[in-house]
Amino acid sequence: MDKSGKRRRSVTIWSNLVVRAALLLCSAGVLRADEPYAPSRDYDLQHSKVALRFDVQQKKVIGDVTHTLTPLRDGVDKVSFDSVGLQIESVKVNRHAAKFSTTQEKLIVDLPNAGKIGEKYDVEIMYEGKPTKGLYFILPTKDYPNRPTQVWTQGESEDTRYYLPTYDYPNDRLTTETILTVPSDWLTVSNGKLISTSDAGNGMKTWTWRESVPTSTYLFSVVAGDFVEVKDTWRNIPVTYYAPKDRGDRLAANYSRTPAMIDLFSKKLGVDYPWEKYAQSMVDDFVAGGMENSSATTNTASSLRNPKLVPEYPTDEDGLISHELGHQWFGDLVTTKDWGNIWLNEGFATFMETVWTEAHYGKDQADYDRWQESRKWFQQHNLYEKPIVRHDFDDSSEFDGNAYGKGGWVLYMLRHQLGEDRFYAGLKHYLEVNRGKNVVTADLVKAIEEVTHTDVDQFFDQWVYGAGAPKLEVSYAYDVEKKQVALTVKQTQKVEGHMGLFRVPVDVEITNATGPKLYPVVVSQAEETFTLPSSSAPQMVLFDKGNQVLKSMEFKKDKKELLYQLKNAGELADRADAAVALGKMKGDDEAASALGEALRNDRARGVREVAAAALGDLNSSLAAKQLLGALDQVKEPEVRASVVQALGSFKETPEITAKLESIAKDDASYRARAAALGAIGQMKTPKAYETLTVAVNSESPDGFLRDAALRAFGPLGDDKAVPLLREWAAPGKDTRSREAAINSLARLQKNNKEITNQIASYLNDSEFRVRVASIFALGSRGDASAVPALEALLKSDDLSIEMAPMIKTQIHRLKNPGKTAAGGPMGMDEESESAAKSKEDERLSHLEQLVEEMNARLKTIEARLPATTKARP
Ligand SMILES: [Zn+2]
Repeated sequence: MDKSGKRRRSVTIWSNLVVRAALLLCSAGVLRADEPYAPSRDYDLQHSKVALRFDVQQKKVIGDVTHTLTPLRDGVDKVSFDSVGLQIESVKVNRHAAKFSTTQEKLIVDLPNAGKIGEKYDVEIMYEGKPTKGLYFILPTKDYPNRPTQVWTQGESEDTRYYLPTYDYPNDRLTTETILTVPSDWLTVSNGKLISTSDAGNGMKTWTWRESVPTSTYLFSVVAGDFVEVKDTWRNIPVTYYAPKDRGDRLAANYSRTPAMIDLFSKKLGVDYPWEKYAQSMVDDFVAGGMENSSATTNTASSLRNPKLVPEYPTDEDGLISHELGHQWFGDLVTTKDWGNIWLNEGFATFMETVWTEAHYGKDQADYDRWQESRKWFQQHNLYEKPIVRHDFDDSSEFDGNAYGKGGWVLYMLRHQLGEDRFYAGLKHYLEVNRGKNVVTADLVKAIEEVTHTDVDQFFDQWVYGAGAPKLEVSYAYDVEKKQVALTVKQTQKVEGHMGLFRVPVDVEITNATGPKLYPVVVSQAEETFTLPSSSAPQMVLFDKGNQVLKSMEFKKDKKELLYQLKNAGELADRADAAVALGKMKGDDEAASALGEALRNDRARGVREVAAAALGDLNSSLAAKQLLGALDQVKEPEVRASVVQALGSFKETPEITAKLESIAKDDASYRARAAALGAIGQMKTPKAYETLTVAVNSESPDGFLRDAALRAFGPLGDDKAVPLLREWAAPGKDTRSREAAINSLARLQKNNKEITNQIASYLNDSEFRVRVASIFALGSRGDASAVPALEALLKSDDLSIEMAPMIKTQIHRLKNPGKTAAGGPMGMDEESESAAKSKEDERLSHLEQLVEEMNARLKTIEARLPATTKARP
């Protein structure tokens, strides 16, 4: 269901969203904004031999790297490498000691002579460091003694330099050799082929990996630790999966479709999977959803869903898996030259998710995903005025919903306009001519034109270099005499800045007594009327049949037509649109009956889910009856969960309560049970406290129901839950349970300082997610006595810089209760209460946009957070 469209769903969700935003923010990893343009180069880095050892207890990396490079112009007498926080021990050039100096961000090495183009230099750097990012150590702790030990890296966007002095921008490519000396019972994974392993004495073992296809340094990867491996193949290429050693049994259920995806993408693109192997390593506490390191993707271990829950998630982790796999072509084989063109990586990876969904799960599922994606994109208002390609992202991240969601949509529209065959012929050519190179958007345009001979400049100008998407008002009138439909279309977006009027081909379908007929039109004016024949009055007029254009649309239709459309439109998107429109007809019984019918019988799961939510929006007694009745019939877990969730928005009645209680207790679907617990908390049913307490103590896979119950205690607001929540917030408990408990705890006994102190004590917790949850819990709790603890955190050394604004915002909230703004002097005392209120709304809406933007960067992370941070089950 459309998560972001349901703002009324309260503070739990809100605080969950904030936690997720924080997680994503951290993953964006910006000490400073990324360099928007590629730097000019003095040298070409051709090969790096990287030997690493780890002092795990000290969280230290000990490195010996030899870079082979050649000057790109005559007279280069110094070469500089990106290097942050590393202790450089020695540097040799061509085996002789060399002079070097360091700054905060660079290592500068003197060459023995003024270099000439074509000369080769081997620069060997010995160093060590305790990286604050780029390389991460996951270790057992006092509270979590059984946690498997892991060391892993995350280079994108500019973090490789925190553990390896190197050229750290995408516009250079090199081959690599990675030599890892680790305890002999560890496994390691890096880019390319495993060349050898050898005994290194003292219980240590050395692993040598070699990547012979040149790649950029942000795609360099090391994973090492207590892992287990499962092996598979695709056309004799090794396909391997790695899980933390206690979760190896989860690999098959979640990842076994990988070879089928490799096969599909190779065939569709006409370019075979280009690397020597494909490894996917699932690591704990990962700072992103997934990362497409060349031939060696790293994903969050949360993608290893409990096999008992897997059947309840229809497309499972395939979004994440297909996204990172898509990058192996788009991003890794052909790489954006600069961060301003990042959509060439992310838009394509997002598009490739659809390619898999469509082939494996069918057109309806792909259409549903795309329908939701466009609604989500329009809700991120801050994206609207920005072009996809831009170089002015100083104060925000370039990894936004334009690079991902809109980028994927643009490619979908291009496919629709060019036709499947011509589109893929264009992509094949693009991949072939740019193989192993760095690209900008113009390279894509050129490749498509060379093959299709179709000019796509105007398409790219409006969709990629221009901002926004059409906002349309559509209406029609039927002229009985002339037998004509006069269809009026207005473009209502503000034409200014990067935004113009759009020129888009659109399919109009008119259905009358003789059946449906399709009329292609081209919309290009601020306002225009198309006159189309119809031998009798239309039963239904579809503008942009099947939702082929990214747009928002107000198309006022009478109830009769909407009822017809919900039942008869051939495409999922048109039926879903009708369901949403009918959900707005408050108290209308015909709408409720029709939605109930769609909920029970529509052939597409997506429409059934939308119908359930629309019945929740109607909120009439007949709507409740439809939802309750559907529960006897609807079996799919995701639809049941939608129905139950919709019921949570009704006023409490004995009948609804009884149903929710019974589902919470013993429904066949865990998702429906979790949704019922949430609805019970939200409705504050008479026995809510008892039901939720029982659920906290019940057994379920990975504590799925327990976490749902802990979350539901917040909206329930019953102080009796405090001791239980305090217990589950404590170190030693499951991280996701702790997050849920902390969120709920923050909303109870607001004057109880002990609770505030307990939450404040987690600001330095060993679990990153718990730290973030605590920061926001303190802000929402409103107890100003937490300010000194937050201020102390702000001053701490190892705080990543992107955390600071979040903490500051929470401090500001606490210091300015009831009329807070997102920071900065606002002269709030002068303002009237209503102005303050609207500021608060604005702030919340701004934060929510931020959340959405961050979400978009890692939308695949959604799938991995079922129990804690997902707003809806
Ligand atoms: Zn991506």
